[in-house]
Amino acid sequence: MFKTLSLLLFAGWLSIGSTQQASGVYICDSKDAKKFHLVEKCRGLSNCKHEIVFVTRETATQRGLTLCGFED
Ligand SMILES: [Zn+2]
Repeated sequence: MFKTLSLLLFAGWLSIGSTQQASGVYICDSKDAKKFHLVEKCRGLSNCKHEIVFVTRETATQRGLTLCGFED
């Protein structure tokens, strides 16, 4: 059971690594942030005074963030 779970997690980690653009987003780690971004160089992130962190899109939406208006 535990071994199977570990393998699944490892496989998941591999797929995240290979499809990082599709499965992860950039957010400004500020309590005032309301958007998440698909690209780190987005101008919406240039105002960020806090750390920019890469998280899954799911994590971003769970924080109540929505897709940045500067991106498709
Ligand atoms: Zn953006």
